Amino acid sequence: MFHISDCKKYNRCKRMYCLDQFAPKKQYQPFVRLDEQVFDLVSLKLGVTDPFTGRRGDDADAARKAMADHDWLINARFEYDRLRIKVPFMHRNEDGWDLYFMFIGLYPHSNDMQSYCDTVWVLDHLDIWLKNMYVIHLNSDYVRNGELDENELFIVSDCFYNGKNHKSTPVEKAVRSKMTDLTPLLEEMERGFAEIPAPVRGNWCSGRQKCRWYDDCFPEEKEMEDNSILTLIGSQYRYDMKKEGRLYLRDADESRIEGSHLQYSQIMADRQGGLYADRMALKKWLSALKYPITCVDFEWERFAIPPYDGMRPYDVLLFEYSIHIVHEDGTKDHKIYLSIHDQREEFARSLIRDIPKEGTVLAFNAEGAEKIRIQELADTFPQYRDDLLAINARMEDLQLPFESGMVYDVRMRGQWSLKKIMAMMDDPGYKDLDIQQGMDAVFEWRFLDVEEKLDENDERVRELKEYCGMDSYAMTVVLEWLRQISG
Ligand code: SF4
Repeated sequence: MFHISDCKKYNRCKRMYCLDQFAPKKQYQPFVRLDEQVFDLVSLKLGVTDPFTGRRGDDADAARKAMADHDWLINARFEYDRLRIKVPFMHRNEDGWDLYFMFIGLYPHSNDMQSYCDTVWVLDHLDIWLKNMYVIHLNSDYVRNGELDENELFIVSDCFYNGKNHKSTPVEKAVRSKMTDLTPLLEEMERGFAEIPAPVRGNWCSGRQKCRWYDDCFPEEKEMEDNSILTLIGSQYRYDMKKEGRLYLRDADESRIEGSHLQYSQIMADRQGGLYADRMALKKWLSALKYPITCVDFEWERFAIPPYDGMRPYDVLLFEYSIHIVHEDGTKDHKIYLSIHDQREEFARSLIRDIPKEGTVLAFNAEGAEKIRIQELADTFPQYRDDLLAINARMEDLQLPFESGMVYDVRMRGQWSLKKIMAMMDDPGYKDLDIQQGMDAVFEWRFLDVEEKLDENDERVRELKEYCGMDSYAMTVVLEWLRQISG
């Protein structure tokens, strides 16, 4: 028996489907926190009464039997031709049934509909007459004020949304137009494989999230040299060029590069012995920085359903900052703030107190993170608006020299994360920590928040402070390095 998730995986990559079958299940840690019992809230919204609620391991015909006695079905399991599905909500509508899909996001688009189509394919083959189809999703305009208001929190939509988040195709029309017969696919899956399929590079290998099998599939990339042509950022022809024997950045075929500043600096770095710097531009950028220079790093958690007043679905809750203040004489101060639960106002007050009233404020990816978070704080707490926006007005992005191609060192291997840059610094004060990246820090914080304790002697508290502290410290090291190479 197969599930919709199996079909999805099989269609994406047969090798991934095969490897996953024999591998231990990965512990799943969601990127977005969802503490609430969503099905209870949606039941209230829909006015569900006396439902049949399906469970894992139900008999194949349990839900079908329940249809005789119940007007509402929640998480009902159905099976047809080896495929088992779970239907979030179904409601009797005279002689047919209305179908409710669930989308725990803000705008369901019609570009990823396989699970919807597969669900309807099974129900159609079981001769269940579907009258209307809806998608239930979170309302982006909802702002929490007191108890959660499920009527305002969710939207029941009979349409998908387009790229501009406006209502577009009706759900039923979109699903029926994309449905395919699953029988050949299920037969193929049933036959299985004589051997594990060879890797085929595709979008799923290294898209938004890198495939867990990537290093197994493409071991040569881990071994590749720093100046490999495969590190050429944004190049659609880099694999072709490698196949043709253009192994290094310096060999790139100029007629087949996209021509970005970044690519130029990568190729030049390889041609100039490993490092490229546009010294004029870098000097100009550095000369605009004013002492004291405050390097700041934030950590936050994102919630699907707003846990506190004034928050909307998918808003973030800031819980930690670290700042390193670099003075003109070279001395440094370090300050750190860590909280659990809702301490946004205290966070804002403390930040205003800790950041000097003059000088430049630096963040790595300031435009995409810290500046946005400060603007959100200013919107939430108008009493601190002026002070907060004054910090933003002095903020510069330390990522800019790297992402603009002002500086490139081949040891960056096509990436410019702070961790990657620090890996080539060999700085004695910088430690490779147990917490490896931002999401690990969020997962650690979740434990503290759920356990409701913030004990300074707790190992997690120590690790969180060290991790965030290392990021703002790393910025001071990178800044110094930029000064050195600017000459
Ligand atoms: S890395 Fe690519 S080819 Fe390998 S299993 Fe993942 S998706 Fe498939």
